[in-house]
Amino acid sequence: MTTLPISETFVSIQGEGKLTGTPSWFCRLSGCNLRCTWCDTPYASWNPEKANRSIDELVTEALAHPARHAVLTGGEPMMFKGLIPLSQALAHEGFHITIETAGTLTLPGLVCHLMSISPKLANSTPVDDPRDPGGAWAKRHEARRLDYEALNECIASAPDRQLKFVVSTPSDLDEIDGVLTNLRGYAPSDVMLMPEGVTLPEPSRVDWIVETCMKRGWTYCPRLHIALFGDTRGT
Ligand code: SF4
Repeated sequence: MTTLPISETFVSIQGEGKLTGTPSWFCRLSGCNLRCTWCDTPYASWNPEKANRSIDELVTEALAHPARHAVLTGGEPMMFKGLIPLSQALAHEGFHITIETAGTLTLPGLVCHLMSISPKLANSTPVDDPRDPGGAWAKRHEARRLDYEALNECIASAPDRQLKFVVSTPSDLDEIDGVLTNLRGYAPSDVMLMPEGVTLPEPSRVDWIVETCMKRGWTYCPRLHIALFGDTRGT
């Protein structure tokens, strides 16, 4: 029987990206091949918590709610081959499937309607992070965070995609431009800028982000769940 390491499942509204506001069943897989210093789900990366659950059990739970959008997230869900049969079983039941990934890995055979990719910039690397004494994760993270072959495969693997960049300062824009020159198969509005942080940013902190989006035809991506529920698990 195929099982998956699950950190949490819950029903909420999608807070980010093209489906913002859509009621969805979230399934968070535990485990990640990266260690972002600002990770907002450390219980699925730095300190993974998990219960092994079967695909049948997960699909039955999803069907018990009226939402017919499923968001398969992490951690890094693409680390787990069991994601393939889970996505197939949910699609068979009529779910629209979003997969949230950093885009460093691929899983042929996956069913996905919206590939939500968050390529990691240098601002994510855990430099001098007390959780990484000796810096082994910082080195690994830096080596893994951008894999253009995997990113392009992720972009091409679903009928729709979004590229969500977490930005801290205007200096991140040069790196984003560099990343985008290596990618293909996306529209400008698929590129999204999301302010870093787990609190609601002051309007003055996001002025430059909104301005940049308007200039380049990119999409400003606020986090609706933070506005509605704060930084709370299960939302
Ligand atoms: S890729 Fe996502 S889950 Fe993994 S460490 Fe970064 S923010 Fe956390």
